[in-house]
Amino acid sequence: MEKKYDVIIVGAGHAGCEAALACARTGLKTLVITMDVDSIARMPCNPAIGGIAKGQIVREIDALGGEMAWNTDHCGLQFKMLNSSRGPAVWSPRAQCDKQLYSIMMAKTLENTGNLDILQSEAASIIVKNAKACGVKVLTGEIIESRAVIITAGTFLNGTIHSGKASFGGGRFNEKEAAHLSKSLTGDCGLTLSRFKTTTPPRVNGNSIDYSKMTEQPGDEKPRPFSHFTEVSKWRQNLKQISCWMTYTNPETHKMAAENLDLSSVNINGGNSKSPRYCPSIEEKIQRYPEKIRHQIFAEPEGYNTNEVYLNGLYTGLPFDLQEKMVNSVSGLENAKIIRYAYAIEYDYANPLQVKNSLETKTVENLFLGGQINGTTGYEEAAAQGFIAGVNAGLKLFGKSPLILGRNESYIGILIDDITAKGADEPYRMFTSRAEYRLSIRNDNADLRLMDIGRSIGLISDAMYKKFELYKKTLLDIYDGNTDNIAYDEELAPWSLEKAEEEVNIHKKYEGYIEIQRKTVSKMKKNEDRKIPDNFDYDSLESLSAESKERLNKVRPQTLGQASRISSIKPSDIAILTIHLEKQRKQKKDEKQIC
Ligand SMILES: Cc1cc2nc3c(=O)[nH]c(=O)nc-3n(C[C@H](O)[C@H](O)[C@H](O)COP(=O)(O)OP(=O)(O)OC[C@H]3O[C@@H](n4cnc5c(N)ncnc54)[C@H](O)[C@@H]3O)c2cc1C
Repeated sequence: MEKKYDVIIVGAGHAGCEAALACARTGLKTLVITMDVDSIARMPCNPAIGGIAKGQIVREIDALGGEMAWNTDHCGLQFKMLNSSRGPAVWSPRAQCDKQLYSIMMAKTLENTGNLDILQSEAASIIVKNAKACGVKVLTGEIIESRAVIITAGTFLNGTIHSGKASFGGGRFNEKEAAHLSKSLTGDCGLTLSRFKTTTPPRVNGNSIDYSKMTEQPGDEKPRPFSHFTEVSKWRQNLKQISCWMTYTNPETHKMAAENLDLSSVNINGGNSKSPRYCPSIEEKIQRYPEKIRHQIFAEPEGYNTNEVYLNGLYTGLPFDLQEKMVNSVSGLENAKIIRYAYAIEYDYANPLQVKNSLETKTVENLFLGGQINGTTGYEEAAAQGFIAGVNAGLKLFGKSPLILGRNESYIGILIDDITAKGADEPYRMFTSRAEYRLSIRNDNADLRLMDIGRSIGLISDAMYKKFELYKKTLLDIYDGNTDNIAYDEELAPWSLEKAEEEVNIHKKYEGYIEIQRKTVSKMKKNEDRKIPDNFDYDSLESLSAESKERLNKVRPQTLGQASRISSIKPSDIAILTIHLEKQRKQKKDEKQIC
């Protein structure tokens, strides 16, 4: 067994896989430690990738050189562009996936990547020397040294599963919880951990569903792949799409939930550990929207080789017998047989105010956190952070500045800026409404926004970049009407003329608005990017209120832009900080001149 690595990643979920691949592909000797190699990149909830705003994130990870989009294209069983009746700014790709295939394919990719080792074991503690992470001790006592450590432990830290009134330890159903690492994160690393929870709905046998009572939801007639590197025409030829189906809850379903609220695990701990507001259980829905007589349920296939069907929308914490009755009260599910029952899970997370916008912890150098551990929810949010944590661990070891994406250039930038400036008091998920510049940061132009960055960090190959340059030239040719010598599809692949023409049309539609946005961004950029020194003394600024000082001391923002987005920080506080930073800058300049 090797005992020395550049980077160790704890966890092989969606964050861990992206982190590991980003490190190994840039030449770093990388180790992924995971409790179970058979569950690499497992989707414990909905086997779907993308969706509103999340689809944009997946396209961005891809343009930067990550894996999620490519993996999805090769095990997706239904592709849909959500919001397609609205403007392209909010079009959001989504794919229903074959759950097992997704996991197997990602595991194979890890296995086949050079510089990357995989170890099935439980990380018990992080070795910290002089406030620097330098390795991991596994449960069996071995110490593995490294120059950086990335923790992507998902829902496993002190995980507790709740099903009705029953509770037991677990990282996911039938998987062991990580019972030791939290102690090291608090003790050795000085982090504070809190609790969140999340629920998952039951899965039923598709053979027991009466689809004639449901509405069919087919995939798109002209599906689009997620990855910029997937050749559309070949891919479409090989794709066999499977339909999803829609039905509704009814007053009987709601009555059953209402009468048994006290039996539901949704209210565990008196509701103290918060769950994702946007994936409410039926118990929460009927309390939040008592006027609604029905809620949508989507019956979604879980794979090509299984009849298991996921009941999206029927999240619940009720005991097994009541789950059964509730499922059978729904039209089309009268005789449905549950294969896996719904459950809730509670777990430790670290409020992301404790990480910098590079995702390195503020307490321990070279220790990075990515994914659900930072208080987010969702595979895509996790993958994005894992990718950035991996890239930034690598850049740090190469002695380079971290990759910090702007809010004006990516959803990933918004996600990390939001969580590091505001923290996460409830599980954070991405929405298009969080993006100030959503006309510019669309799913269709992720390559134009980010592929140069992917290239600069060494994750986009020369051959692919050459194709990308030809694509960019083709866009200009189409835009200018120079179509005589335009490239043809074979030369452009994996890009295509169809894609180029669509891109130019979308650009023309928005270019006036985008120009206005560009001017706003460049006006704001000076202040937005102005750095606040790590040791800045907020307490010395008498004009700041005690509350603002406390908040700024807690978050320790790295730029004025970040400071301005901290909740309870007022424009007047920013004005005070700006004046003070300007004073400091002038003072330093004067000192230099005297020297
Ligand atoms: C029951 C349930 C319901 C969910 N519901 C939703 C939902 O409604 N909506 C939604 O968006 N998301 C939901 N999710 C969340 C979604 O699964 C996560 O957001 C996503 O998987 C997080 O990815 P991750 O990589 O951060 O962690 P995970 O995918 O959880 O992966 C964690 C990895 O770390 C490993 N690990 C942990 N600790 C150790 C250790 N000490 N040593 C070695 N390996 C370790 C595990 O083996 C695993 O490989 C749900 C998850 C669960 C379990």
